[in-house]
Amino acid sequence: MIELGIPPLILQQALQLVALHFRYTVLHTNTIAAKLYNLRCKFRCSNSNPQHTIENRIAKAHSTLMISSTYPGTPSMPHSVTLAKPKNKGKSYTTFLKPIVSAEWLRQIRLKYPHAPLPPSGNVSSRLHAHFPLHHLSLCNNLYKLPPYLTMCGHRNPMSLLRLWSQSHQSIPTHMLTIADNQRDAYDSRVCLYCPSGVTGSEIHLILECPATSHVALDLIKLLTSFLYVTCQPDWSTLTTHQQTSLILGDPPSTLPKKFHHVWLQSTLPAILDYVFRLETFLYNMT
Ligand SMILES: [Zn+2]
Repeated sequence: MIELGIPPLILQQALQLVALHFRYTVLHTNTIAAKLYNLRCKFRCSNSNPQHTIENRIAKAHSTLMISSTYPGTPSMPHSVTLAKPKNKGKSYTTFLKPIVSAEWLRQIRLKYPHAPLPPSGNVSSRLHAHFPLHHLSLCNNLYKLPPYLTMCGHRNPMSLLRLWSQSHQSIPTHMLTIADNQRDAYDSRVCLYCPSGVTGSEIHLILECPATSHVALDLIKLLTSFLYVTCQPDWSTLTTHQQTSLILGDPPSTLPKKFHHVWLQSTLPAILDYVFRLETFLYNMT
């Protein structure tokens, strides 16, 4: 859901309910629905309404998004909404709410993974957990937006790259959930199919370390090394395997200023998509 910019349902609903409150109290105050709503709001605390009435759900949505300062009165309007033409005000208010939803979504992720967006320490214990050491920087963006690797480059279909990012590629052992002895297997026990010694088959292993598959990345690594050099970033050999894998999968270097991210991605994405295609073909042919 992070990859596709789709917030959890509870936050998406909260956004819609808060926007509905805006319509009832600012935009369409003369409709019957709005008058009924305002009337019901007045008696909300004094009666024993069921929890799922619209006024109770809207009140809860305001506290979910932590914007209850003016509720149940008229919501405070940001400048962009005040300036918008009357017919665009509703849309403009929703646009204003999106970064608030994104911030709350990020707060919830950080509660669950205390170190995000910094890489979590300790052993990776699950697929979701494995996402953050590689792609923790994507959590600094507006989560509502599609990541650039999905939209910026029409060179190849980015679906395979999306599968790698979302930890759901069928050729990566740690992405596959298997059941052993009626119990879900541990992340560490999903081993590489090509190494005899039982190494965990994570994307880091298959991309950089596995003797059977790591050679596929050599050309791309050469290209990334030269890009790191010309942009005065730390040398490829000084990066951790997490950082190297994250570059191979299309993250800009963490040390590169944000204003250069677009150029970095524009220059590297075609080669990255080509690499993912080659790796995938190679893995499919091996099995
Ligand atoms: Zn291996």
